Amino acid sequence: MSHPEPVKKNDMTQTAPVDMKDIVALCKRRGFIFPASDIYGGINGFWDYGPLGTELKNNIRDHWWKAMVITPPIGPDGEPLQIVGLDTSIIQNPRSWEASGHVGGFNDPMVDCKESKKRYRADHILAFLPKDGEGAALAFDKDADSAEIDQRLKKLAKGRPQSDYNILTLDKVPVEQFPSIVGPDVKTPGTLTEPRQFNMMFHTFVGAASGDENKAYLRPETCAGIFLNFKNVVDSSRVRMPFGIAQIGKAFRNEVTPRNFIFRSREFEQMELEWFCHPDEHEKWFEFWVEQRKAWWKSIGMDMARFYFNDIEKAELAHYSSRTIDIEYLFPFSAPDFDELEGIAHRGAFDLTQHQDFSGQKLDYLDPVTNERYLPHVIEPSTGLTRALLAVLCDAYTPDPNRPSGVYLNFHPALAPKKAAILPLTAKDDHVPAATKLYMALREHFPVDLDIKQNIGKRYARQDEIGTPFCFTIDDQTNTDQTVTVRHRNTMKQERIGMDHALDYMRQNMSTATGH
Ligand code: ATP
Repeated sequence: MSHPEPVKKNDMTQTAPVDMKDIVALCKRRGFIFPASDIYGGINGFWDYGPLGTELKNNIRDHWWKAMVITPPIGPDGEPLQIVGLDTSIIQNPRSWEASGHVGGFNDPMVDCKESKKRYRADHILAFLPKDGEGAALAFDKDADSAEIDQRLKKLAKGRPQSDYNILTLDKVPVEQFPSIVGPDVKTPGTLTEPRQFNMMFHTFVGAASGDENKAYLRPETCAGIFLNFKNVVDSSRVRMPFGIAQIGKAFRNEVTPRNFIFRSREFEQMELEWFCHPDEHEKWFEFWVEQRKAWWKSIGMDMARFYFNDIEKAELAHYSSRTIDIEYLFPFSAPDFDELEGIAHRGAFDLTQHQDFSGQKLDYLDPVTNERYLPHVIEPSTGLTRALLAVLCDAYTPDPNRPSGVYLNFHPALAPKKAAILPLTAKDDHVPAATKLYMALREHFPVDLDIKQNIGKRYARQDEIGTPFCFTIDDQTNTDQTVTVRHRNTMKQERIGMDHALDYMRQNMSTATGH
């Protein structure tokens, strides 16, 4: 669901160290992420995941699924939580989207510029309105940095300082003031249209006819299928309150302005948990899940100094929510601000109440011990899988002028697409047979690469750029004493170990190779 504008945290001075362009270029160069339909010039808001991007995404997905469904956390009472998984259909009965409020209300305010022909999301544009009412009002993209803003103020407003302006997002500016605003990509005022509501659900037609009665929607969030199956799960499995249902899958939103690489895509993946509990217990569980989610992000090696837990102000909350915390990350494009990575929302009994009313089916829960009947409350930690992947890439991207690649990806070994590379020093001699032997032994246990061609420096550079924690190199000494060198990605330090110890070595060092 749309959340309010992230709070500007101007007191945070920390800046992200890297340029997004470099990350995008590495992703393409090494096969993490490509524009969808690249050979046709792409299609805005859609992305394809390459060989390494797919592995990385699967690793993040599996790590989340394990933490939620396979070995759920231990609850406050010392007992493991009960959480089950689902995989529901992308297309559901269209009535369900009326019940959830998406048909009527899943809207973003959209503004067009008549001159530049660009389309903006009004809540993503900052309007600078002169405090004294004199001179032009200017609009800026919310990700514009301070230097860019100053430069444009210099050109269009004789260098007036930013402090001369009241700053509001465009959706909060009264429409009477629109004629005096200079749009973000033009030089004259009055080219922006009034905001219009734009429904973000993609629709399609089911069956041969394409009339309104056959219209159906692609799900804009995965949680919907969980609520629709609440009764089925309670009736068919042995879960008892409190319990959770988790789902990972594709979601589709016809975003007005897809942007910032895969951050805001039109097709993306979500990882969502709906935690059902007694209405009297929602506060306790909300706190519990915030701590759990923090621990999870830490467990995948993220730099927690780049996280901000944004407790959404009461006035900004969705009507059904009494509390929402957005977990925000310091993305290179948002710095020095943070942008949303995950939302943890108390959704009350909103969804089950709506589906009960619209479907006419009873969805309340009968407690077998107390005989109490109630509609449970829901705590929802909702993360974008593809957005998590972007945060993982940004977090791992570490420029280092002291190595040939100039950069390495500091992935936690659990997430790294390749856990080790086996490199014969030369393609000649008898390095290759020994390397092949080691490769055949390790590949049964870990995803590893055997890379034979090119000079060793280039091969190390490649492994650094794809974030492989260890490189085993086979050289002349290998054939005399059966040892290999291990090169560590982060430090580039090398040590010699017995070749038959390589598997144990990997197992022992898998959790310690990350820099954070
Ligand atoms: P926004 O306000 O930025 O449009 P939202 O608050 O509506 O997003 P939610 O409905 O809370 O987002 O979705 C939960 C999570 O799904 C988000 O925290 C984000 O990680 C992910 N997500 C939402 N929209 C997109 C998108 N267009 N592309 C990629 N990930 C997305």
